[in-house]
Amino acid sequence: MRLKDHSRFVQMLEQIHQESSSLSESEQWHLRYLDAWEAQSDGNYAQSELQFRQVIDHSGDPELIGKASARLLKILSLNRHYDEAFVLANHLASTLPQVKDAQVRFDLLTELSEMLDFADQTDLALQYARMAEDAIPPGETSCFPLMLQAAALYNGKRLTSASPEPRQAIDACTTAGDLVSANAIWLVLGSMYIDGNQPLKALDLLDQIGPSIRTAGYYPHLLSSQVERAQAYLKSGNDDEAKKAALAALAISHPDDTGDWVMTDYQVLYQIEKKQRHDAAALAYHERFSTLEKNHLDDVHARALAYDMAEQHLLVQKMQTEGLSKQNSILKLQQALTGKAVETSRLYIALLLLMLVSVVFWLFRLKRSQLRFKELSSLDGLTGIFNYQHFISEASRTLQILEKRRSTACVIAIDLDHFKQINDTYGHALGDTVLKRTVAICRHQLRPDDLFGRLGGEEFCVLLSGCHRNQGMAIADCIRKALAATLVDVEGGVVSFSASFGLACTDTSGYELQRLCKDADAALYKAKRTGRNQVVASGEHIDQVQAQHAEKWAS
Ligand code: GH3
Ligand code: MG
Ligand code: MG
Repeated sequence: MRLKDHSRFVQMLEQIHQESSSLSESEQWHLRYLDAWEAQSDGNYAQSELQFRQVIDHSGDPELIGKASARLLKILSLNRHYDEAFVLANHLASTLPQVKDAQVRFDLLTELSEMLDFADQTDLALQYARMAEDAIPPGETSCFPLMLQAAALYNGKRLTSASPEPRQAIDACTTAGDLVSANAIWLVLGSMYIDGNQPLKALDLLDQIGPSIRTAGYYPHLLSSQVERAQAYLKSGNDDEAKKAALAALAISHPDDTGDWVMTDYQVLYQIEKKQRHDAAALAYHERFSTLEKNHLDDVHARALAYDMAEQHLLVQKMQTEGLSKQNSILKLQQALTGKAVETSRLYIALLLLMLVSVVFWLFRLKRSQLRFKELSSLDGLTGIFNYQHFISEASRTLQILEKRRSTACVIAIDLDHFKQINDTYGHALGDTVLKRTVAICRHQLRPDDLFGRLGGEEFCVLLSGCHRNQGMAIADCIRKALAATLVDVEGGVVSFSASFGLACTDTSGYELQRLCKDADAALYKAKRTGRNQVVASGEHIDQVQAQHAEKWAS
């Protein structure tokens, strides 16, 4: 957040401070670390140094100490405590092989690169920046290492405005949303345009990055962009704007800031006043400039001296760098290996899921075909209604339920009249058609709860649930009439047919299916014997012969 949206970071920091009483001790130290970072971002280097030191000396959290030490390195340089900075740099470089935490290691490598760049050790700085690029921990991006590489190349005078490195770094930082680092490289490009006498290009660039620099609110960039603007205007001959920009830079600079940008700013002001022959003002600015320039040269000297003192250690370190690079490679390999392992286990899981889905699908299909077979085995092949076995079992079950509910039921036995003749006269195929039409007509007259089955040949049976004798008679007669009124087409004419019906009801025959069918069949027999195409109900006199005929139900 602090790099991507600085003002929101400041807001959140304030909010955490308001609720700081509820933080644990370790959280308090993390807050102090963020405070130190913010102080540095704001240009309060003394306060920042103090707070980083407190975190290092008292927090007791190794990870936080590692990160704070890395930041302290930069602050020491900014505060010109070069001796201590180089001693710390050496110490941190020597701890690198033991640092296992990927984030701390990354922080150390980047800070060391920055520090060495500052000491004009641009080769070493480049090397550390490349090592950082090779060991990017989760959550970080290549932005900062690429930015450091571009900076080291620039300081080592190995960069032109056409070199690809700055653009690559800008792309990486823009993608990562790291405004501060992206701006740092834009400003390097700006300096290159000014050095290369392309002030208008520099001004364009500064206009372009102005909003981003204000959003990031990073003091060194606020100042340096303003000074670059003054330099560019001066080079383009626009003295008025140059002066305005240079004075604006002075206005935002910290009073105790004696750094290079303030020095350059005074130099610009001096040159403008001199050009305009304002001798007194020119002299005054020149005095400020030369004081700062002397400081600057002393500073460069001090840095070189401090570096010389520490150089022996760093040389040793340089030799160890190779070893470190190897260690980095191993870390990278380990990361890749972990990635592969995760990939493999994901593959296994996907495979298992696939197998599971296949098994479930297969079971589903098996169950479906079982159900289909069951359905087929319970239906009559020609007409699609219940076959004999299924009708009997369903009807028995239904009668048991009806008995418990004390509901009534009727059974109708149906037999087509002189069916053999139809077969003999018009052929078996037409016989089949008549059977199918018979079923269709019966179905039409029956209610959804009624059971309907083909007992064999041209004999059918119906169980009417919740039905009284009179209703049963009415339904049977309806069917009879409908059948008798039906005409089936044959070649050169039509065929009519009829059926006889026997009815038995639970009121006289009881709930036992066998008895009901027996009585219905006896009634049917009577209907046949007394003229066919009629409905006869049981309970009327049934003679011995009929009773014998009905005996077949008993078997
Ligand atoms: P009735 O009026 O006394 O019942 O005489 P019927 O001719 O209908 O009775 P019968 O029992 O003599 O003849 C039944 C005929 O039904 C005999 C058989 O060829 C025929 N049949 C049985 N099953 C089928 C079938 O699936 N298709 C066809 N087309 N005919 C069948
Ligand atoms: Mg028959
Ligand atoms: Mg018949």
